[in-house]
Amino acid sequence: MRKKELLENAHPYYEEDQLLELEHAIDFATKAHSGQKRKSGDNYISHPLAVADSLIQWGMDIDSVLAGVLHDTVEDTDATLDEIEALFGHDVAFLVDGVTKVSKARAGMQDLANYLPQTKDNLSKLLIAVGQDVRVIIIKLADRLHNLSTLQYMPKDKQIKIARESLEVFAPIADRLGMGRVRVQIEELAFSFLDPIEYRRLTNIMKKRLGKSTRKLGIVRSEVNAELTKHKIKSEINGRVKSVYSLYCKLKKVDGNMDDIYDLMALRIIVETKEDCYRVLGLLHTMYQPMITRIKDYIAVPKPNGYQSLHTTVITPSKQIVEFQIRTYAMHEHAERGLAAGFHYHEQKVTKNYVKKKRVSSLPAQMQWITQLQDIATRLRNNEDISTEQLNIDIFGKRIFVYSPKGDIYNLPEGALPLDFAYMVHSDIAKHAYSFRVNGKIHPFDKPLNNGDVVEVVTRKISSPKQDWQDLVKTTHAKQKLRLQLKQLGVIETITSAAKIIRRKATKRKDKS
Ligand code: MN
Repeated sequence: MRKKELLENAHPYYEEDQLLELEHAIDFATKAHSGQKRKSGDNYISHPLAVADSLIQWGMDIDSVLAGVLHDTVEDTDATLDEIEALFGHDVAFLVDGVTKVSKARAGMQDLANYLPQTKDNLSKLLIAVGQDVRVIIIKLADRLHNLSTLQYMPKDKQIKIARESLEVFAPIADRLGMGRVRVQIEELAFSFLDPIEYRRLTNIMKKRLGKSTRKLGIVRSEVNAELTKHKIKSEINGRVKSVYSLYCKLKKVDGNMDDIYDLMALRIIVETKEDCYRVLGLLHTMYQPMITRIKDYIAVPKPNGYQSLHTTVITPSKQIVEFQIRTYAMHEHAERGLAAGFHYHEQKVTKNYVKKKRVSSLPAQMQWITQLQDIATRLRNNEDISTEQLNIDIFGKRIFVYSPKGDIYNLPEGALPLDFAYMVHSDIAKHAYSFRVNGKIHPFDKPLNNGDVVEVVTRKISSPKQDWQDLVKTTHAKQKLRLQLKQLGVIETITSAAKIIRRKATKRKDKS
């Protein structure tokens, strides 16, 4: 990647003055890194430019792109943060600082990080600790992606370590941010270094199978295309090939039996409106026999990272099994680029909303995770001790979506209990929780919620938080709010008041003597 090429790629997306700033940043970084080489023998500057190029492709705002160009200057050159702030402003300096902190802390813990679970936890905590601006993490993802693509120049043991960390930490984070394309890129690269033999074996199997089915699939595709044209539905149909890593994961689930995998290649139909998605689904089901258990409506009930599509698997008259994914262009864009896409299009709104920590429910549901991440980040920075277990619940575990009776969507960790939902809606509502109705039926306090549940909190003025509620909440958010209320009610004592009592007793004793 060279300066001229990067500027050309940036040209369609940014204003004149922003492009000038970009050129300025490139010149600054080029000078700072002059004489430095990558392990590949390339000039070092090729790396930050490649990182910036990814950020442009992902639709990030100009500050992130500038920070991408400058991301290694403070750590690896004579450039200082003050200089960057003076030249490129506070926001860019803040982002560069965040990225620098991640790499520094990683370098510092290298020795104690030989034991993998620890690596994962430390790095997770670290990412969260700097995660007060999610753009830092997105820049880090671009950095990691380029380092993976040049990993062959590193020594073997480093390759394994970086590849493993990528699969354990970076890919799940990309997934959580809804950045599907980046997740797949990271997984494919990392897996190819971690288990090159298996990677090659599966790639070969894939090639053979696909060779056989591509022609048959072509016939299905033109049949479908003709039918959609007949019904005047504007569409684009593409073949989607399963990634090698996701094939590997799926094979593990089905004991290695390739014949149990139906979606090696799927057909993806992209249409203009949501209504068209359902019309296409209806047409497919009249043309072919659907496999009932494999119909999924991720439009009505999106995946917790915001992914939307209709999925169906059908059997053609010639007994071929074909999976279809049906979505609008907007849904497609979101599935591929996720949160990053948001920064460019409604950059102002999204950034301000989460910086100001607006009320959680006013954010799009997939952004609620970010707010929770920032919450935890603040606590970690305040040296609060949060257990790995709790982190896994709050941040890294699977997520579910539940609905209020009004249809508002709330994003909670899997295993969340009704009180967790209530505290997320509002702590005053939770405070007076008397019972819960889930999908219209009475639901006990200790029974976890499921994805798609409609949850109603039945309140009574006379109800108030009880001590045993502490076993009936899972999220850090709910635990904190509850503890505060219990203290206010005098149900549990605060440390300070306990200390006061001890002190009072001590003084009394003194008086006596
Ligand atoms: Mn870097």
